[in-house]
Amino acid sequence: MTTHISEQAQSTRHEVFNPASGEVVGHVDWSTPEQVNAAVEAAAGAYPDWSGRPVKERAQVMFRLKQVIESSLDELSELCSAENGKTVAESKAGILKGVEVVEYAASLPQLIAGQYLEVSRGVSCRTVRDPLGVAASITPFNFPVMVPLWMIPLALGCGNTLVHKPSEHVPLSAVRLREYLLEAGLPGDACRVVHGGRQAVETLVENPAVRAIGFVGSSRVAEIVYRRATSLNKRVLALGGAKNHLVLLPDADPEASARNIVDSFTGCCGQRCMAASVLLAVGGAQEMISAVAEKARRILPGRDMGPVISAEALKKITAYIDQAQADGAEVLVDGREAGPPAGGEKGFWIGPTVLDRVTPEMSVAREEIFGPVLSVIRVSTVEEALAVERASEYGNAAAVYTQNGFLARRCIDSFNSSMIGVNIGVPVPREPFSFGGRNRSRFGYGDITGAGAIEFWTQTRKITERWSPRKDADWMS
Ligand code: NAD
Repeated sequence: MTTHISEQAQSTRHEVFNPASGEVVGHVDWSTPEQVNAAVEAAAGAYPDWSGRPVKERAQVMFRLKQVIESSLDELSELCSAENGKTVAESKAGILKGVEVVEYAASLPQLIAGQYLEVSRGVSCRTVRDPLGVAASITPFNFPVMVPLWMIPLALGCGNTLVHKPSEHVPLSAVRLREYLLEAGLPGDACRVVHGGRQAVETLVENPAVRAIGFVGSSRVAEIVYRRATSLNKRVLALGGAKNHLVLLPDADPEASARNIVDSFTGCCGQRCMAASVLLAVGGAQEMISAVAEKARRILPGRDMGPVISAEALKKITAYIDQAQADGAEVLVDGREAGPPAGGEKGFWIGPTVLDRVTPEMSVAREEIFGPVLSVIRVSTVEEALAVERASEYGNAAAVYTQNGFLARRCIDSFNSSMIGVNIGVPVPREPFSFGGRNRSRFGYGDITGAGAIEFWTQTRKITERWSPRKDADWMS
């Protein structure tokens, strides 16, 4: 499949690769700063019309968007897999999760109404949620459709107009999403897509007409965007990276837990901000560690799992494994030996890797690897496990595997992360519950979906009213 997209003239043309095969699957023209600013200007021009429409009218576009995406699901999933490398089943699952946000945005008329109260005799207060103006959304490579759909339907549904900047690795799905929005009835300039990397982001952040920025990506970049944009008095929510811990207690269901743990760290080749990264095996967990390793060995790259996004990512993940081995970790399952599937010789392949006897000081225990690597730290007690989890600078997700409600509760209450699983290794809150981490996994306030997102993409107007009878009252009074 080859897609050619040329939204603007005079910009540099970049190839989009399939990381599974190295094959070129499309091109995009990176936007110059002038073109990014022109997109913002166009979105500003569309703002009075779009924001002036009643929310019920805007919600109709989201109803239709859901229908368009669902009827194009196969095609969109193929495109998403072609540029990201993940399996088509993984693309489909991610897109359908994104569609839940579209559904949520379609119900905005039920969610966005303000409050009203008579605060003293004859005096009433009410609130109205106003949009902010032109917003920007900036997204990472790992979910080419789902993460843009965390922001686009809600930012637009709340009445903002939007300039979206997808990851330079996966721009094609984002362009397709915009086409679907137009098909659903969105006015063309209400959502514009620009392409590129750092320069495009900096141009958006610096443009005075951009009032709010939603960002999802690594903590390093999230912090840069957050600091600069807040210094310009913009509203920013920047979700960052993650290092998710799973606590495995000896009473956990061995078969179901092992399966779930392996799904968590190998799904999307470990390139999920909700993926398991550290397994804290409490007490005599030897049998379960072996079961995890056994199941991980059966995951076949090319059949069950895609590649990582780039040669650079592959090099980085391999270096982490090399370092852990040099530091004394035991390599139970070695993804470096997996090799590419047939036809994937030019792709970026690595298999599931399980490292045992990792210690909390090792880099694999502390830093985000963003690949299919599970580091097992053996601990003696639940409290020791919690101390390791709580020491992490991240705070996206954590989970516990047990059949003991009391200990599950102890973990729920003590984890220093925002999204918590009990016997679920990828505890993504489903709509209407909101998504977002804490610590260095989030810069800014609130969540990116759910009620927090409505708060983020709007500002409140507070109206206090008193009406007195007219002095010159006539028959109309
Ligand atoms: P990234 O930070 O490299 O890129 C994210 C976005 O920022 C892209 O659009 C990119 O073009 C832009 N960018 C890159 N460098 C920049 C710079 N110096 N200045 C300004 N903009 C820049 O992230 P990625 O590699 O695309 O995605 C993987 C990361 O995203 C992981 O850390 C992962 O944990 C994180 N992630 C987090 C969540 C979450 O919900 N917390 C969800 C998905 C991914």
